[in-house]
Amino acid sequence: MSPESTYFRKGFGLKAEVERTLTADYDGHLVDLLLAREHTLTAGPVTIRLAKEFGFCYGVERAVEYAYQTRTKFPERCIFLAGEIIHNPHVNEKLREMGIVFLPQSGTGFDYGAVTPQDVVILPAFGVTIHDFTTLRELGCVMVDTTCGSVLNVWKRVDAYAKDGFTALIHGKYYHEETRATASQVEKYRGGTYLVVRDMAEADDVIAYIEGRGDREAFVAQYARAASPHFDPDLHLDRIGVANQTTMLARESLAIAAAVGAAMERAHGKDHRETHFRTFDTICSATQDRQDAVNALLTEPLDVMLVVGGYNSSNTISLAALTAERVRTFHIEDAACIDPARGRVRHRDPVTHEEVESEAWLPADGDVRVGLTAGASTPNNKIGETVARVLATRGVDPATVV
Ligand code: SF4
Repeated sequence: MSPESTYFRKGFGLKAEVERTLTADYDGHLVDLLLAREHTLTAGPVTIRLAKEFGFCYGVERAVEYAYQTRTKFPERCIFLAGEIIHNPHVNEKLREMGIVFLPQSGTGFDYGAVTPQDVVILPAFGVTIHDFTTLRELGCVMVDTTCGSVLNVWKRVDAYAKDGFTALIHGKYYHEETRATASQVEKYRGGTYLVVRDMAEADDVIAYIEGRGDREAFVAQYARAASPHFDPDLHLDRIGVANQTTMLARESLAIAAAVGAAMERAHGKDHRETHFRTFDTICSATQDRQDAVNALLTEPLDVMLVVGGYNSSNTISLAALTAERVRTFHIEDAACIDPARGRVRHRDPVTHEEVESEAWLPADGDVRVGLTAGASTPNNKIGETVARVLATRGVDPATVV
């Protein structure tokens, strides 16, 4: 087969065929009610306020739909997935039920030992590294690439930085699939270099080094896993281009870029900054919209905020971090975390990152207003189930809500 006949990135024209299954697997009645009632649902003492933008983003919808189309297109073939299609356990479980096999991690990439040229491999919405992509090409299997267009935009930016001899300074999590794939784009060019910083505290280390206040050995040791293997702060903090994982806190990404640019100006002057520093906001619009919507929701009085999404979902974690600044927040993986009978909730602790259990999380008496949002990888049925359990916690039978 020619490379063209084994590489697909625009689906198979089977949208109509998979629509009914997608609706059955992911749509939620209570969310439909919320949408029909201007994102507000009042039942008994409980008022739920749903953020204006929430849940599945365009990139996730597309990736999940392509995975379903792939199953329909190749009913007889073995289908593999390079990692999780998105960070939602429910969606990944549905794909497993369809017979799609998740490839295990192996060293710097995935273990393709079981994949033959007759098989199909789906690339997730976050994309894969250049190493994985090249390996798959060489295997000659069918590739269904669901990498989101917004991720591809970041890759273009990082590609341009590396091409022009700039180190790509990426605001992200070095172990996240998207950031690993983004960072690998520098490998297209000899000497291409990246450095990943997780937050402003880590950006401050970079700033200190630029301003001559860093220790080379300590810096190299601290960022060994977050930088190109050849990274040398004495050489590679001279020209910097900033990019970000699409799902980070937009506010923090902008602040990091501004602070690094200002440090370069302080250390080397304005002209140097103009020629040696570049930045571009690569937060995707879906992430930005969800963060803006939650900020708008937080201007209202709320007793509690619920954020629904995978514990390893970066954009969900960013949403929970935003809301926790202003209101008591519970980041739950899905509705099953809420136990109405015992009045308890299991949730991700934002500091320890462990799942913990809290009791009396919802005021037991009087009217209660609950803010609700969900990460870009959370389907509507999981949001609807969450609403049902919130209502049940305060003694409202969800079946009576019509
Ligand atoms: S969060 Fe943004 S970049 Fe990621 S899949 Fe969704 S739209 Fe694409």
